[in-house]
Amino acid sequence: MVESFGHVIDGQEVPSADGSTFQSVDPWEREPWATVALGSPADADRATAAARNAFDSGPWPRMSYAERAGILHRLADLIEAGGERLALTDTTDMGKPIAETRGHDVPRSAQNFRFFADHSTVTAAERFPMASGFHAYTEYGPAGVVAAIAPWNFPLMMETWKVAPALAWGNTVVLKPAEQSPASATLLARLALEAGVPPGVLNVVHGYGPGSVGQALTESPAVDRITFTGESNTGRAISAAAARNLTPLSLEMGGKGANIVFADADLEQAVSWSIKAIYTNNGQVCLAGSRLYVQRDVYRQFVERFCAAAEALVVGDPKEATTQIGPLASEEHHEKVTGYLDLAVRDGARILSGGRGEGWTVLPTVIAGAGQRDRVTQEEIFGPVVVILPFDDEDEAVRAANDTPYGLNAMLFTTDLSRAHRVSRALRVGTVWTNCFFVRDLRAPFGGAKNSGVGREGGNFSREFFTEPKAVVMNI
Ligand code: NAD
Repeated sequence: MVESFGHVIDGQEVPSADGSTFQSVDPWEREPWATVALGSPADADRATAAARNAFDSGPWPRMSYAERAGILHRLADLIEAGGERLALTDTTDMGKPIAETRGHDVPRSAQNFRFFADHSTVTAAERFPMASGFHAYTEYGPAGVVAAIAPWNFPLMMETWKVAPALAWGNTVVLKPAEQSPASATLLARLALEAGVPPGVLNVVHGYGPGSVGQALTESPAVDRITFTGESNTGRAISAAAARNLTPLSLEMGGKGANIVFADADLEQAVSWSIKAIYTNNGQVCLAGSRLYVQRDVYRQFVERFCAAAEALVVGDPKEATTQIGPLASEEHHEKVTGYLDLAVRDGARILSGGRGEGWTVLPTVIAGAGQRDRVTQEEIFGPVVVILPFDDEDEAVRAANDTPYGLNAMLFTTDLSRAHRVSRALRVGTVWTNCFFVRDLRAPFGGAKNSGVGREGGNFSREFFTEPKAVVMNI
């Protein structure tokens, strides 16, 4: 059965202004499974007008924090109650194993609402008593209309990471999910209305980016903030579009995470986390540990264990609870990832394990013998493909880890505490995980250095971005 998903504008689920639709394809079945409204700039205008109106004259920005938080907690309850439907929707849309959507993405989406709802009610604003009888304080008022543009790799989870703080701080939102994974955004907007989020506060428009609904949002003078997650090149285009209106941006972009294993590491732990770091969500993770640097003393031993663990992963139908590796998200993406496998071989590297699978799957792949400057080591492949390189000493590892245009995150495995601090300081990245991967505290800054990001979100960092901090100075 083919399902239908519309835009959600001003509290109504609606077709596109010109009636256009597109098909979302289930990458495991390689068949369309949903018909989705295909937005145009006219739909972006309708949605931003609804959000503007809800901001300028609706109740949402004027409610107390506690009132908004109550509604957002209700939304989190509904996400949990409808978790199975949401998990299956993302899995069908983009092929992520159901164990991940069920066990991680959906619970994190609910947690995003709970965390930012609570955070907005308990954070204090600064006061600055001044010696001369004047007194200053900071008021964190909502910024206005937020355009949230999301990628396909964690559809619901990334969307709620943007929508939750924006709503908690009193903004109204136009969300544009990725065209490869549109369905759960419509489900989210339906649940938001059911939870009591007023019409026009969370709008969803579907469709493409360049020359279409996505670009129109970034160029709209009615938008006060743009929060984007996606590729670095898209971030460049969005920055250029936003420059005309000087719209503030938060950009979370690509990565080529270095994963450094020192000889003194607990190797069993290092193998197990490193497997998670590259093969979670099929390697379609901005934070993926896709460059694995292993100290030469333990290189052979580590690679052997790592390949055995990679080969033990269960590849198959993402709707099966035991599947660990599903298909890649689309045919186009499958072509991109397999193109890198061919390129690695052409450049003289060896595929130790993995390679092409059936349909749009790629088996958990391990590449050795590539050079630091090779394209497979430098570019974001965004698939279940790791490049393993040996290193001799700490300085060499740090130099190599810092030697890509990206700077999102790094992992290091060591039992030497001083080394862990020293290396963490030397890495030019937004997050360093020592002896672990993807462990998040939502209060901590999240974002990237270099081509991986502009700005930070999380906790107070999200407050800074989604509000217009105002200094109020009183003569008392
Ligand atoms: P993408 O850049 O192709 O698309 C992301 C979104 O931007 C989509 O909704 C798309 O329609 C829209 N878009 C594209 N061009 C646009 C334009 N000119 N104007 C406005 N909108 C436009 O990215 P993707 O392929 O969906 O996602 C994968 C990328 O996202 C990877 O590079 C990955 O590393 C990155 N990512 C980063 C993080 C992070 O937190 N840093 C998290 C997840 C994914």
